[in-house]
Amino acid sequence: MPQGRLYIVSTPIGNLEDITLRALDTLKKVDYIACEDTEHSLKLLNHYGIKKPLISYWSQKEKVRAEEIIQKIKSGNNVALITDAGTPGISDPGAVVIKRAIEEDIEVIPIPGPSALTAALSISGLPSDEFTFIGFLPVRQSQRRKKLLELSSERRTLVFYEAPHRIIQSLYDMLEVLGDRYVAVARELTKIYEEVVRGRLKEVLEKLENSKVAGEYVIVLEGASESQTNLDEAVRKVKELIKKGKGRKEAVKVVSELYGISKRELYEKSLKEI
Ligand code: SAM
Repeated sequence: MPQGRLYIVSTPIGNLEDITLRALDTLKKVDYIACEDTEHSLKLLNHYGIKKPLISYWSQKEKVRAEEIIQKIKSGNNVALITDAGTPGISDPGAVVIKRAIEEDIEVIPIPGPSALTAALSISGLPSDEFTFIGFLPVRQSQRRKKLLELSSERRTLVFYEAPHRIIQSLYDMLEVLGDRYVAVARELTKIYEEVVRGRLKEVLEKLENSKVAGEYVIVLEGASESQTNLDEAVRKVKELIKKGKGRKEAVKVVSELYGISKRELYEKSLKEI
Protein backbone atom coordinates (compact mmCIF):
# COMPACT_ATOMS: atom_id res chain seq x y z
CA MET A 1 0.00 0.00 0.00
CA PRO A 2 1.43 3.44 -0.89
CA GLN A 3 2.15 5.68 2.07
CA GLY A 4 -0.28 8.47 2.95
CA ARG A 5 0.25 12.21 3.20
CA LEU A 6 0.53 14.72 6.00
CA TYR A 7 -1.71 17.78 5.65
CA ILE A 8 -0.92 20.89 7.71
CA VAL A 9 -4.30 22.55 8.01
CA SER A 10 -4.89 26.12 9.22
CA THR A 11 -8.03 26.61 11.29
CA PRO A 12 -9.86 29.74 12.59
CA ILE A 13 -8.31 32.08 15.20
CA GLY A 14 -11.74 32.74 16.71
CA ASN A 15 -14.56 33.07 14.21
CA LEU A 16 -15.47 29.53 13.14
CA GLU A 17 -16.39 30.76 9.66
CA ASP A 18 -12.77 31.62 8.90
CA ILE A 19 -11.95 28.25 7.42
CA THR A 20 -11.28 27.53 3.77
CA LEU A 21 -13.34 25.15 1.65
CA ARG A 22 -10.17 23.18 1.01
CA ALA A 23 -9.46 22.87 4.73
CA LEU A 24 -12.98 21.47 5.32
CA ASP A 25 -12.66 19.12 2.35
CA THR A 26 -9.28 17.87 3.62
CA LEU A 27 -10.56 17.32 7.17
CA LYS A 28 -13.49 15.34 5.75
CA LYS A 29 -11.28 13.15 3.57
CA VAL A 30 -8.32 12.25 5.81
CA ASP A 31 -8.19 9.06 7.92
CA TYR A 32 -7.00 10.75 11.12
CA ILE A 33 -6.90 14.27 12.52
CA ALA A 34 -4.04 15.05 14.91
CA CYS A 35 -5.07 17.87 17.28
CA GLU A 36 -3.13 19.94 19.79
CA ASP A 37 -6.09 19.59 22.15
CA THR A 38 -8.83 17.20 21.08
CA GLU A 39 -11.52 18.81 23.26
CA HIS A 40 -10.80 22.24 21.81
CA SER A 41 -10.81 21.00 18.20
CA LEU A 42 -14.05 19.07 18.68
CA LYS A 43 -15.91 22.40 18.83
CA LEU A 44 -14.75 23.17 15.30
CA LEU A 45 -15.18 19.62 13.99
CA ASN A 46 -18.69 19.25 15.48
CA HIS A 47 -19.67 22.64 14.06
CA TYR A 48 -18.89 21.29 10.58
CA GLY A 49 -20.21 17.77 11.22
CA ILE A 50 -16.77 16.17 10.81
CA LYS A 51 -16.32 12.86 12.62
CA LYS A 52 -12.86 11.32 12.43
CA PRO A 53 -10.55 9.38 14.70
CA LEU A 54 -8.50 11.98 16.59
CA ILE A 55 -4.90 11.75 17.75
CA SER A 56 -3.96 14.02 20.63
CA TYR A 57 -0.79 15.85 19.63
CA TRP A 58 0.41 18.28 22.27
CA SER A 59 3.83 19.79 22.76
CA GLN A 60 5.02 17.73 25.77
CA LYS A 61 4.17 14.51 23.95
CA GLU A 62 5.22 15.82 20.54
CA LYS A 63 8.07 13.36 19.92
CA VAL A 64 6.12 10.21 20.84
CA ARG A 65 3.01 11.32 18.99
CA ALA A 66 5.05 12.30 15.96
CA GLU A 67 6.31 8.70 15.65
CA GLU A 68 2.76 7.32 15.95
CA ILE A 69 1.61 9.69 13.20
CA ILE A 70 4.56 8.75 10.96
CA GLN A 71 3.75 5.03 11.39
CA LYS A 72 0.10 5.63 10.51
CA ILE A 73 1.08 7.54 7.36
CA LYS A 74 3.61 4.87 6.37
CA SER A 75 0.91 2.26 6.56
CA GLY A 76 -1.21 4.17 4.06
CA ASN A 77 -3.26 6.64 6.14
CA ASN A 78 -3.67 10.33 5.36
CA VAL A 79 -3.32 12.51 8.46
CA ALA A 80 -4.30 16.17 8.96
CA LEU A 81 -2.58 18.18 11.69
CA ILE A 82 -4.48 21.06 13.29
CA THR A 83 -3.76 23.19 16.36
CA ASP A 84 -6.06 25.14 18.70
CA ALA A 85 -5.98 28.19 16.45
CA GLY A 86 -4.45 29.41 13.22
CA THR A 87 -1.53 27.89 11.39
CA PRO A 88 0.25 24.89 12.92
CA GLY A 89 3.93 25.54 13.58
CA ILE A 90 3.46 29.29 14.13
CA SER A 91 4.20 29.44 17.90
CA ASP A 92 2.41 26.10 18.02
CA PRO A 93 3.43 22.44 17.88
CA GLY A 94 4.00 20.88 14.48
CA ALA A 95 7.72 21.24 13.76
CA VAL A 96 8.68 17.77 15.08
CA VAL A 97 6.22 15.74 13.00
CA ILE A 98 6.86 17.86 9.90
CA LYS A 99 10.63 17.32 10.19
CA ARG A 100 10.15 13.57 10.70
CA ALA A 101 7.77 13.35 7.73
CA ILE A 102 10.31 15.08 5.49
CA GLU A 103 13.03 12.68 6.69
CA GLU A 104 10.76 9.75 5.79
CA ASP A 105 10.02 11.15 2.31
CA ILE A 106 6.39 11.69 3.21
CA GLU A 107 4.60 14.39 1.25
CA VAL A 108 3.74 17.36 3.52
CA ILE A 109 0.95 19.51 2.11
CA PRO A 110 0.03 22.94 3.49
CA ILE A 111 -3.63 23.94 3.57
CA PRO A 112 -3.15 27.67 4.22
CA GLY A 113 -5.52 29.89 6.13
CA PRO A 114 -5.70 32.22 9.11
CA SER A 115 -2.94 33.18 11.48
CA ALA A 116 -3.06 35.86 14.19
CA LEU A 117 0.33 37.03 12.87
CA THR A 118 -0.87 37.99 9.37
CA ALA A 119 -4.29 39.18 10.59
CA ALA A 120 -2.72 41.66 13.05
CA LEU A 121 0.04 42.79 10.71
CA SER A 122 -2.43 43.43 7.89
CA ILE A 123 -4.40 46.00 9.91
CA SER A 124 -1.53 47.47 11.95
CA GLY A 125 -0.79 50.45 9.73
CA LEU A 126 2.91 49.56 9.90
CA PRO A 127 5.12 48.53 6.98
CA SER A 128 4.50 44.88 6.18
CA ASP A 129 6.69 44.44 3.11
CA GLU A 130 9.41 43.31 5.52
CA PHE A 131 8.79 42.26 9.12
CA THR A 132 10.28 40.14 11.89
CA PHE A 133 8.10 37.66 13.75
CA ILE A 134 9.30 37.12 17.31
CA GLY A 135 6.36 35.17 18.75
CA PHE A 136 6.33 35.04 22.57
CA LEU A 137 8.97 37.02 24.47
CA PRO A 138 10.65 35.32 27.45
CA VAL A 139 8.52 35.20 30.60
CA ARG A 140 11.26 36.45 32.97
CA GLN A 141 11.59 40.21 32.83
CA SER A 142 15.40 40.22 32.73
CA GLN A 143 15.39 37.80 29.79
CA ARG A 144 12.61 39.72 28.08
CA ARG A 145 14.54 42.98 28.30
CA LYS A 146 17.67 41.29 27.07
CA LYS A 147 15.78 40.00 24.04
CA LEU A 148 14.32 43.46 23.37
CA LEU A 149 17.78 44.99 23.61
CA GLU A 150 18.99 42.51 21.00
CA LEU A 151 16.17 43.72 18.76
CA SER A 152 16.81 47.42 19.31
CA SER A 153 18.53 47.99 15.95
CA GLU A 154 16.02 45.93 13.95
CA ARG A 155 14.59 48.26 11.30
CA ARG A 156 11.77 45.95 10.23
CA THR A 157 8.33 45.92 11.85
CA LEU A 158 8.29 43.56 14.85
CA VAL A 159 5.42 41.19 15.63
CA PHE A 160 4.96 39.59 19.07
CA TYR A 161 2.40 37.27 20.62
CA GLU A 162 1.63 37.96 24.27
CA ALA A 163 -0.47 36.54 27.08
CA PRO A 164 -3.07 38.91 28.62
CA HIS A 165 -1.47 38.90 32.10
CA ARG A 166 1.86 40.06 30.67
CA ILE A 167 0.73 42.51 28.01
CA ILE A 168 1.08 45.69 30.12
CA GLN A 169 4.48 44.71 31.53
CA SER A 170 5.79 43.74 28.09
CA LEU A 171 4.64 47.05 26.59
CA TYR A 172 6.40 48.89 29.46
CA ASP A 173 9.57 46.96 28.80
CA MET A 174 9.32 47.89 25.10
CA LEU A 175 8.88 51.56 26.05
CA GLU A 176 11.87 51.53 28.38
CA VAL A 177 14.21 49.51 26.19
CA LEU A 178 13.16 50.71 22.72
CA GLY A 179 11.66 54.16 23.29
CA ASP A 180 8.22 55.57 22.56
CA ARG A 181 7.56 53.86 19.22
CA TYR A 182 4.31 53.48 17.28
CA VAL A 183 2.48 50.27 18.13
CA ALA A 184 -0.73 48.46 17.19
CA VAL A 185 -2.11 46.14 19.86
CA ALA A 186 -4.66 43.78 18.34
CA ARG A 187 -6.93 41.92 20.70
CA GLU A 188 -9.39 39.06 20.16
CA LEU A 189 -9.19 39.26 16.37
CA THR A 190 -12.24 37.86 14.55
CA LYS A 191 -14.09 37.46 17.89
CA ILE A 192 -16.89 39.44 19.57
CA TYR A 193 -14.55 41.73 21.53
CA GLU A 194 -12.15 42.41 18.66
CA GLU A 195 -10.27 45.64 19.27
CA VAL A 196 -7.18 47.37 17.91
CA VAL A 197 -5.43 50.09 19.92
CA ARG A 198 -2.97 52.12 17.87
CA GLY A 199 -0.62 54.95 18.85
CA ARG A 200 2.68 55.56 20.59
CA LEU A 201 3.56 53.08 23.36
CA LYS A 202 2.90 55.64 26.11
CA GLU A 203 -0.63 56.48 24.95
CA VAL A 204 -1.49 52.87 24.21
CA LEU A 205 -0.35 51.89 27.69
CA GLU A 206 -2.52 54.61 29.19
CA LYS A 207 -5.55 53.36 27.26
CA LEU A 208 -4.93 49.72 28.21
CA GLU A 209 -4.40 50.52 31.87
CA ASN A 210 -7.82 52.15 31.90
CA SER A 211 -9.59 49.24 30.24
CA LYS A 212 -10.19 45.57 30.92
CA VAL A 213 -7.21 43.51 29.81
CA ALA A 214 -8.35 40.05 28.75
CA GLY A 215 -8.25 37.75 25.77
CA GLU A 216 -5.59 37.11 23.16
CA TYR A 217 -3.17 39.75 21.96
CA VAL A 218 -0.76 40.46 19.14
CA ILE A 219 1.65 43.40 19.41
CA VAL A 220 2.86 44.95 16.14
CA LEU A 221 5.68 47.38 16.85
CA GLU A 222 7.47 49.92 14.67
CA GLY A 223 11.05 48.97 13.79
CA ALA A 224 14.06 51.10 14.75
CA SER A 225 14.52 54.45 13.00
CA GLU A 226 17.79 55.28 11.27
CA SER A 227 18.86 57.52 14.16
CA GLN A 228 18.14 54.78 16.71
CA THR A 229 20.20 52.34 14.67
CA ASN A 230 23.05 54.87 14.55
CA LEU A 231 22.86 55.35 18.30
CA ASP A 232 23.02 51.59 18.90
CA GLU A 233 26.00 51.28 16.62
CA ALA A 234 27.67 54.20 18.35
CA VAL A 235 27.17 52.54 21.76
CA ARG A 236 28.82 49.39 20.40
CA LYS A 237 31.77 51.51 19.21
CA VAL A 238 32.06 53.15 22.64
CA LYS A 239 32.06 49.67 24.20
CA GLU A 240 34.90 48.61 21.90
CA LEU A 241 36.98 51.67 22.79
CA ILE A 242 36.39 51.21 26.54
CA LYS A 243 37.51 47.58 26.18
CA LYS A 244 40.67 48.83 24.50
CA GLY A 245 41.37 50.99 27.56
CA LYS A 246 39.89 54.40 26.70
CA GLY A 247 37.93 56.28 29.38
CA ARG A 248 34.17 56.55 28.87
CA LYS A 249 34.20 60.33 28.41
CA GLU A 250 36.92 60.23 25.83
CA ALA A 251 35.33 57.29 23.96
CA VAL A 252 31.96 59.06 23.86
CA LYS A 253 33.58 62.28 22.57
CA VAL A 254 35.34 60.50 19.68
CA VAL A 255 32.34 58.37 18.68
CA SER A 256 29.73 61.14 18.94
CA GLU A 257 31.80 63.26 16.53
CA LEU A 258 32.21 60.31 14.19
CA TYR A 259 28.45 59.56 14.08
CA GLY A 260 27.27 63.17 14.36
CA ILE A 261 25.07 62.43 17.39
CA SER A 262 24.58 64.15 20.74
CA LYS A 263 27.39 63.54 23.24
CA ARG A 264 24.99 63.60 26.18
CA GLU A 265 22.54 61.14 24.59
CA LEU A 266 25.37 58.74 23.75
CA TYR A 267 26.92 59.09 27.21
CA GLU A 268 23.60 58.33 28.94
CA LYS A 269 22.81 55.38 26.69
CA SER A 270 26.32 53.99 27.14
CA LEU A 271 25.90 54.22 30.93
CA LYS A 272 22.69 52.14 30.75
CA GLU A 273 24.26 49.44 28.58
CA ILE A 274 27.90 49.16 29.48
N1 SAM B 1 -0.76 29.19 15.52
C1 SAM B 1 -1.42 30.42 15.91
C2 SAM B 1 -1.43 31.38 14.74
O1 SAM B 1 -1.21 30.95 13.62
O2 SAM B 1 -1.68 32.56 14.95
C3 SAM B 1 -0.80 31.03 17.16
C4 SAM B 1 -0.85 30.14 18.36
S1 SAM B 1 -0.11 30.83 19.78
C5 SAM B 1 -0.03 29.44 20.85
C6 SAM B 1 -1.42 31.71 20.52
C7 SAM B 1 -1.19 33.22 20.49
O3 SAM B 1 -1.57 33.73 19.22
C8 SAM B 1 -2.02 33.99 21.49
O4 SAM B 1 -1.40 34.04 22.76
C9 SAM B 1 -2.09 35.36 20.86
O5 SAM B 1 -0.89 36.08 21.09
C10 SAM B 1 -2.18 34.99 19.37
N2 SAM B 1 -3.59 34.86 18.97
C11 SAM B 1 -4.25 33.73 18.64
N3 SAM B 1 -5.52 34.02 18.30
C12 SAM B 1 -5.66 35.36 18.42
C13 SAM B 1 -6.75 36.25 18.20
N4 SAM B 1 -7.95 35.83 17.83
N5 SAM B 1 -6.53 37.58 18.42
C14 SAM B 1 -5.32 38.02 18.80
N6 SAM B 1 -4.27 37.22 19.02
C15 SAM B 1 -4.44 35.91 18.83
